Amino acid sequence: MSDNAPLVIVGTGLAGYNLAKEVRKLDSERELLLITADDGRFYSKPLLSTGFAKAKEADELAMQDAATMAEQLNAEVLFHTQVTGIDVQRRMLQLGGTEQAYSELVLAVGAEPRRLPWADDLGDRLLSINDLLDYGRFRTALKGKRKVVIIGAGLIGCEFANDLLAGGLEVTVVASDPYLMPQLIPEPVAAAVQTQLEALGAVFHLGCAIESLEAAQEGVSLRLDDGSLVIADQALSAIGLAPRLSLAEQAGLQVGRGIVVDRGLATSQPHIYALGDCAEVQGLNLMYVMPLMTSARALAKTLCGTANELSYPAMPVMVKTPACPLVVAPPLTAESGHWSTTGEGSDLQALFHDDQGRLHGFALTGSKVAEKLKLTRELPGWLLATPS
Ligand SMILES: Cc1cc2nc3c(=O)[nH]c(=O)nc-3n(C[C@H](O)[C@H](O)[C@H](O)COP(=O)(O)OP(=O)(O)OC[C@H]3O[C@@H](n4cnc5c(N)ncnc54)[C@H](O)[C@@H]3O)c2cc1C
Repeated sequence: MSDNAPLVIVGTGLAGYNLAKEVRKLDSERELLLITADDGRFYSKPLLSTGFAKAKEADELAMQDAATMAEQLNAEVLFHTQVTGIDVQRRMLQLGGTEQAYSELVLAVGAEPRRLPWADDLGDRLLSINDLLDYGRFRTALKGKRKVVIIGAGLIGCEFANDLLAGGLEVTVVASDPYLMPQLIPEPVAAAVQTQLEALGAVFHLGCAIESLEAAQEGVSLRLDDGSLVIADQALSAIGLAPRLSLAEQAGLQVGRGIVVDRGLATSQPHIYALGDCAEVQGLNLMYVMPLMTSARALAKTLCGTANELSYPAMPVMVKTPACPLVVAPPLTAESGHWSTTGEGSDLQALFHDDQGRLHGFALTGSKVAEKLKLTRELPGWLLATPS
């Protein structure tokens, strides 16, 4: 047993660092250790998909280094340190050759990009961006290049398309999806976003499978199943993220889509919690900033002695496609229903109602974004407080 050991947070992304900040608001003394496989710099991940238009180097997006964070948090930050195992009986972490005891452990290990089958062969010609180091690597690979092919037309692919176009690059988007962001928005809204990105010069190949993806000259060539050939200087893979589960699985924690936690963010093993992109609470694995901030506040209270139950209001997401401003509240609370879209051009309001006519989600573009607050108030919470 290790009750005198520190509270250990694995991961220094927004989830890990924000939890540490929230804990410090409630307890300035408790021994706190953060461990991360990366360099421990504090940065805002959403800025990675707006950095090209602003010509920002990775170092310029970093807000604080690990040593500064350690000082500010009155904590120890172990960086470039991979946690390789968890001994739940002895409350010990394996860090390669050494061990670290914990009193309580929080997994804030995030998610990792899904990989295309050609990734190993293509090296830096095909990259993905999910952290500051990836962003730096992509910027370096992009030096002197003009044509980028983005594979994937989800939220992240669309944001990078807009940002790279605004940064003066030529962008082609290839995706098997029939329209942009189909998990989030209905087709007419997607068409409005696509039209505005096309006005900036984007070329889309949607509803296409990639038959081959090969190195060609300095860049890549893609053959699509509609017969087209796309040649680009650089490829960016944006085909989605998968929660990092291996540590939790190996330790025998219950996992589903993410690491399964209850409303107190406790995993299936005592003294171990999870939050952020890696966590799944009541079937919800929400890879956005607002849910992890809400989770960090709730978990800090629990860790500091006040048992606390997580609840989520509806939390719309601003999609960073300034060519066509877009805000989305996905209909997470409805089992079935339908979208209906009104408006003109790129000023659209799409509402998702269930079969009883209740509002569960929306997507707003252009001038209709102004209706966000009013409509958000009409939505049911994503995770309702348990009635007392
Ligand atoms: C380009 C981009 C733009 C985005 N824009 C938005 C937006 O506009 N709005 C929004 O709401 N959301 C946005 N998101 C999503 C949001 O940024 C994420 O939900 C959030 O940053 C996830 O934080 P996290 O701390 O859970 O994970 P991460 O930031 O991935 O952090 C995981 C941490 O765990 C560490 N780690 C992992 N495994 C180990 C191990 N075994 N040992 C030690 N350390 C380990 C990593 O080194 C890292 O420090 C965006 C995401 C991307 C990729």
